[in-house]
Amino acid sequence: MSKQRKVPKHNHIWAGGESHRWVAKGTNKAKKLKEGEGLQDLSLDDFRNDWQEVPDQEHTSNKDYYFNSYAHFGIHEDMLKDSVRTGSYMRAILHNAHLFQGKTVLDVGSGTGILCLFAAKAGAKQCIGIECSDIADFATTIAQQNGHGSVITYVRGKVEEVELPVQEVDIIISEWMGYLLIYESMLDSVLFARDKWLKKGGLMFPDRARLHMAAVEDADYREEKIGFWGQLWGFDFSTMKQSVIQEPISDTVDAASIATSTCCLLDINLHDVKREDLDFFARYTLQVKRQDFIHALVVWFDVSFEACMPNVLLTTAPGKPYTHWKQTVLYFEDPLVAHKGDVISGMIAVRKSPQNPRDLDVKLLYDFKGKFAQPSKVQCFRLR
Ligand code: SAH
Repeated sequence: MSKQRKVPKHNHIWAGGESHRWVAKGTNKAKKLKEGEGLQDLSLDDFRNDWQEVPDQEHTSNKDYYFNSYAHFGIHEDMLKDSVRTGSYMRAILHNAHLFQGKTVLDVGSGTGILCLFAAKAGAKQCIGIECSDIADFATTIAQQNGHGSVITYVRGKVEEVELPVQEVDIIISEWMGYLLIYESMLDSVLFARDKWLKKGGLMFPDRARLHMAAVEDADYREEKIGFWGQLWGFDFSTMKQSVIQEPISDTVDAASIATSTCCLLDINLHDVKREDLDFFARYTLQVKRQDFIHALVVWFDVSFEACMPNVLLTTAPGKPYTHWKQTVLYFEDPLVAHKGDVISGMIAVRKSPQNPRDLDVKLLYDFKGKFAQPSKVQCFRLR
């Protein structure tokens, strides 16, 4: 999932904001053209007042912003265009058709229905997609137009509130990943679905997810994003720096800028992870590999489909083919001067923000054992 990501999925903020109300309200229908009249005979007033060909999406503009932010096709365009993302699901499902044949499959957050289409093509007996946004109407037509209308059904609503036409399912498929893996907390809905509908011994696609971290030299980009807030147009804007540093940046990190070893912060098995485990904390240790300045930590995730033969891995690591999630960068307030053999260690804690559970709070402690300096610090970030 993602989502019109940073600038946001995957966070789904559209130019034009949440209202797609392009439609003039209370408009009069255009005067009917008389026999023999063409469009050129419309008066300017009738033309201006009749907007009926543009559907009024007022019902989609939101009481609950998140749950309708996926109604617009643009977000789905980004996800479908992400060939690493969509291609990994396609391979996992179509190259493992033996797992899907004759099975009942549930797609949690089905969007345009691409995962249901793969499952139907792989021979599933029944595919049910749950989708809370209006895109579900298009998904139904797409399924029908592709000859899978009798196998695929979409249930419109929130996973937590809907009734399904079956008691249990053999396989749950879902693309739920956000920045830092768990941003947006859609995984909660997947776990809810698993506990309610997945048969004992059923499969999760994907079934494993990991979060990784390394430290990077990133002087140029730091200057562009943070150093920028200095003298601007002859005025001092430096007070902004503090807030800018607090917000992790989603962007592509060059693998060559990684100056340390990498470490795994989180490794979850989707079959048994619990909701509480998603507010996680971990210790980390990174070994410096070369003499360099270190400006930031970079975090990325991968998910794998381990029921597949061979195993399918969807990774968003630096240096790997581009995905719309890119990587997430957390800047240190002060760059570190590092030498080969130095160690950066510390702790990281991630929790849903108490103010808005779809935001993530990150607390980072780092303790640098350098040749010349040994700074220790705690920094807090918020992904919103
Ligand atoms: N499966 C699609 C879409 C993934 S994006 C694809 O792979 O292209 C995630 C989708 O989940 C969005 O369309 C969003 O509207 C939906 N979603 C998120 N949380 C949900 C919930 N709790 N209940 C129902 N749908 C949800």
